[in-house]
Amino acid sequence: MTAQIIDGKALSQRLRVGFRERVERLKARGVSPGLAVVLVGDNPASRVYVGNKIKACEECGVHSLHIGLAADVSEAEVLATIERLNRDAGIHGILVQLPLPAHIPIARVLEAISVHKDVDGFHLYNVGALVTGTSIFPPCTPYGVQLLLDTTGIDVAGKNAVVVGASNIVGKPMGLMLLQREATVTICHAKTRDLAQHTILADILIVAAGKPGLIVPQMVKEGAIVIDVGINRLPDGRIVGDVCFDAVKEKASWITPVPGGVGPMTVTMLIENTLRSAERAFKAADGDEFQDWEAPVVKSPD
Ligand code: NAD
Repeated sequence: MTAQIIDGKALSQRLRVGFRERVERLKARGVSPGLAVVLVGDNPASRVYVGNKIKACEECGVHSLHIGLAADVSEAEVLATIERLNRDAGIHGILVQLPLPAHIPIARVLEAISVHKDVDGFHLYNVGALVTGTSIFPPCTPYGVQLLLDTTGIDVAGKNAVVVGASNIVGKPMGLMLLQREATVTICHAKTRDLAQHTILADILIVAAGKPGLIVPQMVKEGAIVIDVGINRLPDGRIVGDVCFDAVKEKASWITPVPGGVGPMTVTMLIENTLRSAERAFKAADGDEFQDWEAPVVKSPD
């Protein structure tokens, strides 16, 4: 079997067409959706990520505010910046680019962000809401994976879903989202013994370990859906995922490439969450004329 490719770039572009329409609808009602991105220090990778987010805002017509703070900024100043953004009615989403310098406690910074503007979904409230299945802002990477899964048209309910990687930003929320959709979920991590014994049972295999070449065909069930979240730069400069793509695609039914799979979806879901926040703010301020947010519907191929 040769897998069908799940094209994250194409899906992102389709979703962004819909976003531009939503922005126009908001602007016609006097609301200009806005996202603030706070970058502390000048980590080169973070600068690239922030640049991509600002670019995506521009593409969709979302106003973006880039706030750069020096690497030696005090915790108090970071918190004061967030507080200002929390009160700014023109800002609907606040994102603090991680990692932060060691002297700034990440947890205190994330919890300072208003839960109504927490478009990354990292505030404890939104993390808890994910557990109960009521999250307003699902974290962007697993949210993007969920939509990529939808494109296959396969019902997640009752499937064996195995997530490799248990980080707070990808693996754990991914597991919760799959559980919410009634999959039987296993989350593996670096201390898991005999990883293959788990992955071979997966109808849906989601890999987010940051280890190139981790998943080889012998670890994959015939016909599995394989989603590769990993982004790894090899010494020769190539970007690859965690899955041996060429070999595994001969065994899987669906597979995401790297690049062009999960990566573009992460930024797209950030814009989705920002628009959702702006729509909710409008609704709260102006009665119920505006339709409440609905999750983007992804049509499966026939
Ligand atoms: P992380 O380092 O915070 O967590 C990695 C997880 O993988 C940990 O739970 C660890 O225990 C597990 N792990 C490591 N080696 C393992 C092994 N040999 N077997 C099983 N589990 C193992 O990383 P993260 O932030 O979750 O990111 C994971 C990968 O996903 C990275 O490559 C990262 O660049 C990528 N990523 C991509 C996107 C995107 O938009 N595509 C977004 C976030 C992260």
